Amino acid sequence: ISSKLPKHETSIFSVMSKMAFEHDAVNLSQGYPNFETDQKLKDLVAQAMNDGYNQYAPLAGIKQLREQIIDKIEKLHGKRYDENKEITVTNGATQALFLAITAFVNPGDEVIVLKPAYDSYEPAIKLNGGIPVLLQLEGKGYKLNIEEIKQKITSKTRMLIINTPHNPSGNVFSKEEMQQLEALLEDTNIILLSDEVYEHIVFDEARHYSASAFPNLSKRAIICASFGKTFHNTGWKMGYCVAPEELMAEIWKVMEVNVFCVHHPTQRAFAEYLQSPEHYLDLGRFYQEKRDRFLDLIKDSAFKAVPSKGTYFQLLDYSEITNEPDVDFSRRLIKEFGIASIPVSVFNKDQIDHRQLRFCFAKTNQTLEKAAEILNRIK
Ligand code: PMP
Ligand code: GLN
Repeated sequence: ISSKLPKHETSIFSVMSKMAFEHDAVNLSQGYPNFETDQKLKDLVAQAMNDGYNQYAPLAGIKQLREQIIDKIEKLHGKRYDENKEITVTNGATQALFLAITAFVNPGDEVIVLKPAYDSYEPAIKLNGGIPVLLQLEGKGYKLNIEEIKQKITSKTRMLIINTPHNPSGNVFSKEEMQQLEALLEDTNIILLSDEVYEHIVFDEARHYSASAFPNLSKRAIICASFGKTFHNTGWKMGYCVAPEELMAEIWKVMEVNVFCVHHPTQRAFAEYLQSPEHYLDLGRFYQEKRDRFLDLIKDSAFKAVPSKGTYFQLLDYSEITNEPDVDFSRRLIKEFGIASIPVSVFNKDQIDHRQLRFCFAKTNQTLEKAAEILNRIK
């Protein structure tokens, strides 16, 4: 049969987690917490089931949850979306991204993707006949270069995808960078797809600047978010997107024929849980503590940390240890040393010379200690 994605390979996240399991390795590869989501949230889902919320929810999500999300965005970023027209609750951010790309990318359209990039963007573009136009973020700090984006824009550019805070680098776009993007897109019809799934995980002086906070971005932006990252329940696959009414209307057409709606009882639970902001407002501090603990534990190792301002990932440079390509080295680390990470080149197939691996520190302190003990032994 002719394949629509002939070169597609199984996601590295599944591959590495499977390998970690087979070798009983400490798993810092796939991004998910190895600690529990709040019992109260689990109780709320169970309660919603017992209360009979077990049939289809409205396509865009239940009103109570939409209102909570809209209020939260307004409080944090000063932009009020319309809860009836400008939001959809989705099956994780992955579905939100797929809906946005499917709704707007036509065959032959170009979509600018900043590399390294999360691995679902390019296949989604290709499935819709679009052409991913790849652009490297600059240097080892993965900085935004607005001039280079400008050079990639053509009459066929339909969309630009950004991700801040950035997986895998932990880079966070500054206010100035968002303003530069605003100026760049001002006189274009380009849709901005802004992946903000790590919005609450920022460290030190860094702040998350959402595209929603910039009028000339928000008017063209589809912003995707994920409850999995924020509430330690990636397996629940709940997220949402917000966008101006005329964009959301198109997203609804795809949503309707794709899944129609998402898990109803979980929406009930989040509608209630989001009324207390303490959890997500504290999340940066919570993960910063883990990042700092992890970095402190490995400070005398041969791995060198690439500074991270956000997300629950830490890039480690291993060039002092070996010149092996990252895919080979990460496999060897699982087999010989019992520790699993993600080779950064999978986010970035054109650039395989960065000797960097990504480690997820959304782990219990005990797991981080076990991981550090192994990393400290690798010379
Ligand atoms: N975007 C990025 C940058 C991610 O890291 C992830 C999570 N792996 C997603 C999107 C998908 O989020 P979700 O699990 O909610 O589908
Ligand atoms: N986003 C997660 C990561 O970067 C993995 C998501 C997935 O497994 N599809 O590790």
